Amino acid sequence: LLRITNLRKAYGDKVVLHDVQLTVRQHDVVCLIGASGSGKSTLLRCIDLLEPVDDGEIHLGGVEITDPLVDVRSVRSRMGMVFQAYNLFPHMTVLENVTLAPRKVHGLSAADAEDRARTLLARFGLADKADEHPDRLSGGQQQRVAMVRAIVMEPELVLLDEVTSALDPELVGEVLDIVRDLAERGTTLLLATHEMGFAREVATNVCFLHEGVILEQGPPAQVLGDPREERTRQFLRRVL
Ligand code: ATP
Ligand code: MG
Repeated sequence: LLRITNLRKAYGDKVVLHDVQLTVRQHDVVCLIGASGSGKSTLLRCIDLLEPVDDGEIHLGGVEITDPLVDVRSVRSRMGMVFQAYNLFPHMTVLENVTLAPRKVHGLSAADAEDRARTLLARFGLADKADEHPDRLSGGQQQRVAMVRAIVMEPELVLLDEVTSALDPELVGEVLDIVRDLAERGTTLLLATHEMGFAREVATNVCFLHEGVILEQGPPAQVLGDPREERTRQFLRRVL
């Protein structure tokens, strides 16, 4: 579904991603792990076309999305992305936040968009929050709304960048439950996370990034349980 070849990204003369190769198949759950500054967010932002790449190619379902002539809006509409700090629009209600893109980008009628939104809000325990503004919700609830907003159009690929890092510990579980639910329903997921236990349990593949290089990738049991690289072992000793 997603194929990244020889991806290179620099900010000025600082190379942040070196020759990254990564393949995500349909229904995969790929966890990106690595120290702060290793390039996880940059990689996700390149895939979502929020950052131009300097070299290499990204293909999504056979389309080269790094082609300068690509229709960025249509590519983005095939992906859902959620960031560390929930980026809900504060002046809109939960329902308005969730139905905005379906109506404006995907051309759904207000009634169809609302139907979809309410179904998902209910599934994730937010049915009674539809008409609230984000500032009336807890951090965990806001992040669950951000998840609903990202998946409401059933994107082919969902990108999650440390969606639990800004949350109080007791709220982490309710957001991870949604990610787990998506994984179980076969959603293709690529997520940067510091939740190693979660990665071990849910990932089909784990990718360890170190200073912009994917040092190793493989099934969680191997990368987390029996890493080949000394750098990976050092990282895991620090975070586990
Ligand atoms: P964290 O776990 O802290 O979120 P990360 O793995 O997501 O870290 P990135 O945010 O991708 O790391 O950053 C990778 C490197 O790129 C860092 O050295 C960072 O300082 C640098 N960087 C990121 N964004 C920019 C930018 N807009 N301009 C210049 N440098 C940047
Ligand atoms: Mg990051």
